[in-house]
Amino acid sequence: MTLVAGEVNRQKLSASVDVVIVGAGFAGMYMVHKCHELGLSCLAIEKGDDVGGTWYWNRYPGARCDVPSLEYSYQFSEELQREWHWSEKYATQPEILRYAQHVAERFDLKRDMVFETTVTHAAWNDDTSSWCVDTDRGDTVHAQFLVMATGCLSSANKPRFPDDETFRGEVYHTGSWPHDGVDFTGKRVAVIGTGSSGLQSIPLIAEQASHLTVFQRTATYSVPANNGPNDADYEAKVMADIAGFRARNSATRSAFGGDFPTNEVSVFDVDDDERHRMLEERWDSSGLLFLGAFNDVLMSDTSNEAVAEFVREKIRGIVKDPVVAEKLAPRQTIGCKRLCLDTNYYGTFNRDNVTLVDISDAPIDRLTPNGVVTGGVEYEVDVIVYATGFDAMTGSFLKANIHGRGGLPLTEAWGAGPLTYLGLNSHGFPNMFLVTGPGSPSVLTNMIVSIEQHVNWIGECISHMRNNGHRIIEAQEQAQADWVAYVNMIAGYTLFPTCNSWYLGANVPGKPRVFMPLLGYSDYVARCEQVAATGYAGFQLSA
Ligand code: FAD
Ligand code: NAP
Repeated sequence: MTLVAGEVNRQKLSASVDVVIVGAGFAGMYMVHKCHELGLSCLAIEKGDDVGGTWYWNRYPGARCDVPSLEYSYQFSEELQREWHWSEKYATQPEILRYAQHVAERFDLKRDMVFETTVTHAAWNDDTSSWCVDTDRGDTVHAQFLVMATGCLSSANKPRFPDDETFRGEVYHTGSWPHDGVDFTGKRVAVIGTGSSGLQSIPLIAEQASHLTVFQRTATYSVPANNGPNDADYEAKVMADIAGFRARNSATRSAFGGDFPTNEVSVFDVDDDERHRMLEERWDSSGLLFLGAFNDVLMSDTSNEAVAEFVREKIRGIVKDPVVAEKLAPRQTIGCKRLCLDTNYYGTFNRDNVTLVDISDAPIDRLTPNGVVTGGVEYEVDVIVYATGFDAMTGSFLKANIHGRGGLPLTEAWGAGPLTYLGLNSHGFPNMFLVTGPGSPSVLTNMIVSIEQHVNWIGECISHMRNNGHRIIEAQEQAQADWVAYVNMIAGYTLFPTCNSWYLGANVPGKPRVFMPLLGYSDYVARCEQVAATGYAGFQLSA
């Protein structure tokens, strides 16, 4: 049965199902498929009017993945892998969205999805040992299990500036871009933010706009994407041993790039010429794996500085105006904020119609009806693009208004920062699974691999419970405390906590400063497997 987006399965919202899934991005989609495999009744509830999640919402110019598409794609079905062909090394947002739609169709996922519906409240009922889930349409659905597939990067961070409501022009956020696109022709445009979304969109907006003003609070390290059409020979080679390819990738710390492992050599183990040669090699070909040129880039200040200076030199070589080049040259630890991939980002600042405004010392004071004021100067614009990112990793969970045992609000339980065991469950919230929750490697990995690993684990856990007469699973408080301490300890060995990144929640005013993702995918998987093999150690299972 083909279901029309927005018109699907509303009747199920008054029913009771085994599993309610919130979100229909890659996580929610695969969770629906897993429920089908296991014979569990399920319903995925999605705010948007179609599947795709990130790739449904982020339609800004230039949006594309930065993990190669041959890896940034599902591996649960060999047939799917063989029948889908990516046109470019890093696929565009429309192509990834088409892929998501293809998967939904191919595996008949929409028969258990409702769209244009937001979960506004979810409460655990101790008497019935089940979840009661409410939506913005007034529906209530009951389920034994609640799976939060709401995404790490799905709650837009749109900072407020004084008088922002007075601005008379158009306003967009990269994370909720209009479906019909935006025509910047002949317009004066401001982009606020220079993270990955800003870096991807700025070169294309500059080509269309009459003038582009970029407001930069923190300069960003980026390496060239070197994107292009997918190489058919390489694809054939990958497909000849797709299982081996996937296994090599999953054995890495970030779940991708198994064929380009981190060099087991430190920055100062080699002389200057060799260091330069190794960095050039990675700069030209390896995308995000650039930092894998050496094994101590995120461990040692001096090693990090040597690599950071290499990138600054690249920027100085690309950007003609030395003053602009110095403003674009980042000073913080490289890799501490997420590294970006770009296509002609730095070169865009050589255009006559592009102005860089450094707001690191003088933040945006206010908006006016005509534009943006900073440092006492008003920049008149017709359009403002917020490329200001997300309330990452916790935003969408907390917005869903979840209440656990005894009515405990998740916002209260996580008041000082997220608390999870394995990033999969939180004490006080029985039978609630988080897909790529805080405390799991999630955003430090190829996320589709992490999503599949979580969903597989959740599926096996539910099967185990059913086979052994358990109805309830909940993280033990001590196991959770130990896990949170472990996540922080691992981060503490590295330079990750040394800058104001969204990994730490530092981009959202008032958010607790806690390092949220766990470093190290392959070790994490081993730990999850060990927990399952030992009867779910650290979890309380009950009838
Ligand atoms: P999402 O895709 O975010 O889906 C979550 C869904 O839940 C959304 O559709 C949302 O509408 C819905 N939802 C949330 N709350 C509710 C609610 N209360 N009620 C109903 N529905 C709700 N990762 C990589 O590994 N490689 C990349 O190259 C990469 N590129 C990215 C590019 C961009 C522009 C962004 C923003 C992220 C990128 N990511 C990348 C991370 C990306 O988010 C993940 O790879 C992946 O798509 C996440 O899938 P998901 O299903 O977990 O979450
Ligand atoms: P981001 O990395 O958080 O960048 C947001 C930008 O907005 C930063 O430059 C930030 O400055 C700035 N900003 C935030 N609040 C501001 C304020 N009040 N005033 C001025 N500037 C402000 O967000 P993103 O670019 O959307 O990317 C988020 C993540 O999504 C990425 O790290 C990545 O994981 C994923 N993503 C991936 C791709 C891809 O290439 N595949 C593309 C887009 C997104 P500060 O740095 O000073 O905070």
